[in-house]
Amino acid sequence: MKQRKLLMIPGPIEFTPEVMASMALPTTSHVAPNFIEVFGQAIERLRTVFGSPSGQPFVVAGSGTLAMDMAAANLVERGDAALVVNTGYFSDRFGAILERYGASVTHVRAPAVGDVPGLDEVERTLKAGSYKVMTITHVDTSTAVRVDVRAMAALGRAHGALVIVDGVCSVAGEALLQDEWGIDLALTASQKALGVPPGLAVLVAGQRALERFHSRKTPVGSYYSDWSEWLPIMKAYEQRKPSYFGTPPVNLVWALDVSLGQIIEEGMIRRVDRHRRLSAAFKDAASAMGFRQVPTGPLHAADTLTALYYPEGVDAGILGRIGQFGVIVAGGLHPEIRARYFRVGHMGAVNESDILTVVGALESALSSTPAKTEPGSGLHACARSLNEQPS
Ligand SMILES: *Cc1c(COP(=O)(O)O)cnc(C)c1O
Repeated sequence: MKQRKLLMIPGPIEFTPEVMASMALPTTSHVAPNFIEVFGQAIERLRTVFGSPSGQPFVVAGSGTLAMDMAAANLVERGDAALVVNTGYFSDRFGAILERYGASVTHVRAPAVGDVPGLDEVERTLKAGSYKVMTITHVDTSTAVRVDVRAMAALGRAHGALVIVDGVCSVAGEALLQDEWGIDLALTASQKALGVPPGLAVLVAGQRALERFHSRKTPVGSYYSDWSEWLPIMKAYEQRKPSYFGTPPVNLVWALDVSLGQIIEEGMIRRVDRHRRLSAAFKDAASAMGFRQVPTGPLHAADTLTALYYPEGVDAGILGRIGQFGVIVAGGLHPEIRARYFRVGHMGAVNESDILTVVGALESALSSTPAKTEPGSGLHACARSLNEQPS
């Protein structure tokens, strides 16, 4: 019997065989001509995936948290006012990182877990202060809440704040048009919708962000994160020239280039639409099985993952049972509701059969609990939704 389980958590995700094969290539020198070519091409491809023809990509060994750390280290100086549009655990983390670099942080929080802060309240706060930066968590992975980044970013810009978007759970899964939406810096990590094993922090800085960085009055407070070191490296790789600051994770960069090639081949519009379609099918199935979502309304529920409260009589014990049916899902993360809900990731190369499998596993696991779920209701709703929305 196959031992492999289907990994349906909000990162790391299931990676394509081509991506995994690139991880097994013999590692070469970071200045070998074939590696320089691949790194240069990956940098160019990131502009397409972020929708930022004018942006400067950075690819650095580390996780998504390093990408957030780099954003704050390079764009914030001691005493700067920063506004955090707070939709959960990862928004809180951005606030903590900004404070570490000396920013004075104001959070605009959603009225309740699962909700989004109102545009009017964010605007009032922006008007009342003089904010140098504003951060938005596009999809907060602890709540599955998605923010209307386009509208939020426009507000930040209108009030003179540099707009930073944590797109770790959205880039390459949700619609994100960095240049068109006026986002000054967008960041992600390899292991989520970008479809590459964990280990890469990825950022794309717009021209206003670079200007802010170049006009700093104080040095960057982190040696490893300092863009003064990384900018010449990214430019050199793109110009297909050898360079060195810190050894790049050679195989991960190969894997990144392979995945970006697959993403671009599918096309951003089709890819975002696939995520929307599969997410809708999973959410329809979840409702039919009697689950209630953490996001308080469908318009701010993400397409990259789903967060579901356990029904009456069910607790986190069901996660192990779902695992016995061959699917790994994630427990809760938001401190206020941690024990009351769980999360299912559906991003990257996810397809119809993955969705049907996770729905089947959930339904099978539920049947041994007191939950009053009609057997077959989830799969029935899922199949209907998939049939109604052909690809
Ligand atoms: C996963 C995630 C992070 C943190 O990324 P790590 O790679 O775990 O450091 C930050 N923000 C969001 C929205 C995430 O989903």
